[in-house]
Amino acid sequence: MSEQTQQFASDNYSGICPEAWAAMAQANHGHERAYGDDQWTARAADHFRALFETDCEVFFAFNGTAANSLALSSLCQSYHSVICSETAHVETDECGAPEFFSNGSKLLIARTEAGKLTPASIREIALKRQDIHYPKPRVVTLTQATEVGSVYRPEEIKAISATCKELGLNLHMDGARFANACAFLGCSPAELTWKAGVDVLCFGGTKNGMAVGDAILFFNRDLAVDFDYRCKQAGQLASKMRFLSAPWVGLLEGGAWLKHAGHANHCAQLLSALVKDIPGVELMFPVEANGVFLQMSEQALEVLRIKGWRFYTFIGSGGARFMCSWDTEEERVRELAGDIRAAMEG
Ligand SMILES: *Cc1c(COP(=O)(O)O)cnc(C)c1O
Repeated sequence: MSEQTQQFASDNYSGICPEAWAAMAQANHGHERAYGDDQWTARAADHFRALFETDCEVFFAFNGTAANSLALSSLCQSYHSVICSETAHVETDECGAPEFFSNGSKLLIARTEAGKLTPASIREIALKRQDIHYPKPRVVTLTQATEVGSVYRPEEIKAISATCKELGLNLHMDGARFANACAFLGCSPAELTWKAGVDVLCFGGTKNGMAVGDAILFFNRDLAVDFDYRCKQAGQLASKMRFLSAPWVGLLEGGAWLKHAGHANHCAQLLSALVKDIPGVELMFPVEANGVFLQMSEQALEVLRIKGWRFYTFIGSGGARFMCSWDTEEERVRELAGDIRAAMEG
């Protein structure tokens, strides 16, 4: 099987979508001012403010790890702590970067239901200890859509933010797949963020069809003070910033961000529909965004690997994650489903 064949291991196996590519090509004419002082960066920031219907502060970083880590470090001091879920990317996949960039703010793991934090699980961790010997809880971070493909409803986010207000916690959202959550719910970006009490959003571009790049949106502008210095110090200020920001213009101006996310979600729905009647195959989580998590036999997973399929199994024994992308072909989804059926029935 050639390396060009579409795979489902991650949504970042895909390439760059036409809209982002075209905008980068357009930005590649002549000279422009550097370090974000250019027209593309201004346009991208204005598109975000229009899309979110608010005058938020907008910054750009190279990837999600940097965006999350820097955003979290601006929401707390080193002696504070950050409440997250056990499956949170910040906890499991960022190599300690949030702790590193915050000079030691500890991540505290809260219980989840289908990958989601709840007011009760946040309260449990936030109120567990209130003495001087324990790092003081100061931030909650939610992932939307979650690492297991579930999506927080606006009411759930509102309930969490009410708990945060009561307990003096800032609310951060890791939106590596924020577009997929919007597409699934049919909600406006504003409804899922500041209108529901989110202070800061890291909006992922990579999995949505860009080459690189995350945008950091501060709805609570007071929290953005000196954030530009924090980015620069962390090596996240691109000198040719227009190549980070222009693709956002391409994605946002004609609605491609939502169209691509909707397509990826649709492919995940198709995959789950094609496999859910196979004896021995169980859906591990509700399929809401662009991921399908299947519990199946280890032998069947091995058969799939031998056939050349790539997928992640971080979710535990017999669990496999299949992610769909902006460019996933339905035909390839059908092939995968057919091979899963053959592997289980064979
Ligand atoms: C992909 C991803 C990120 C960003 O990861 P980078 O590799 O640093 O770009 C952040 N959060 C979640 C939930 C992700 O899936």
